[in-house]
Amino acid sequence: MSELRYNLISGEWIIVATERAKRPKDFVKAKKEQVPLPEYKENCPFCPGNENQTPVETFRLGGSGAWKVRSVYNKFGAVSNEEKKERRINGLYNSMGGFGVHEVIIEHPRHNNCIALMSNEEVENILKVYRERYLAVSEIEGIESIVIFKNHGPAAGTSLEHPHSQLIATPVVPPQVRGRLEQAVSFFDLNGRCVFCTMLESELKEKARIVLETDNFVAFMPYASFTPFTIWIFPRRHSASFGGINDREISDLAENLKTILGKLYYGLDNPDFNYSIRSTPVGERGTSYFHWYLSIIPRLSQPAGFELGSGMFINTALPEQTAEFLRQVQLT
Ligand SMILES: [Zn+2]
Ligand SMILES: [Zn+2]
Repeated sequence: MSELRYNLISGEWIIVATERAKRPKDFVKAKKEQVPLPEYKENCPFCPGNENQTPVETFRLGGSGAWKVRSVYNKFGAVSNEEKKERRINGLYNSMGGFGVHEVIIEHPRHNNCIALMSNEEVENILKVYRERYLAVSEIEGIESIVIFKNHGPAAGTSLEHPHSQLIATPVVPPQVRGRLEQAVSFFDLNGRCVFCTMLESELKEKARIVLETDNFVAFMPYASFTPFTIWIFPRRHSASFGGINDREISDLAENLKTILGKLYYGLDNPDFNYSIRSTPVGERGTSYFHWYLSIIPRLSQPAGFELGSGMFINTALPEQTAEFLRQVQLT
């Protein structure tokens, strides 16, 4: 027996293996003995003292001496603002120069730190730099969409150990953002309400999938989650763009995000994960129909043949059970 659940935000059906679902504890990966990381690594380009090894610095929090957070261009950027944005048509095919912005946000001077173990203030500093870079990059002509994301651990695709996040801004709207926008517009046209605000209200009433509530944010597991332990953090206040986050909300999001990542760290033994911040395209920041949010995806399962062949996901965990499990995890 299983159940198909409809994801109201993405507009997709997901297969939830309700009876064969694994227990939350089964997702704790038996890791190979890990060598603890050093606090400082001489040849790490992100460690203090090696600032000249990174490309152009775009922002620094903490003055010219001991910095707290830095942002720099990505040395091997997927896109660059020096590329041309003109579109080219070559017979049947369209192309354009690799125009855009690809930055790295170095989250902390210490090589072996991670958000789950930082102080609230340190996480707040990272989020402040996210906002600073989001707003600065959104002013660049031709930029349509900005995604801020983090890869933690090898299964999440990280190539450098030093804690860092990335920002990629593109001159076209990525398909996932576009798909969710279209869904949100349809829901708004039909109901006259933001689908995210509506979902948040319903989740808060039902409570079964809520993991953590703070003053300005709610972390919960989506009803039709693509993968085990996926967590969405929604701002309570309707706002279409991350760029609109205020200082009070930054401080509250720092507490919420740090607690959630701490629960994953202690509950699932520091799993690899990705998170991303999804916002409306930069020109539509005031819309009533879209609502920015942060999505955390622990890398506990691999998409297999069916997922790759169909684009339809099979989730082997029940969001209600995994939410209950994470609620119980104590930060020690
Ligand atoms: Zn380092
Ligand atoms: Zn909303």
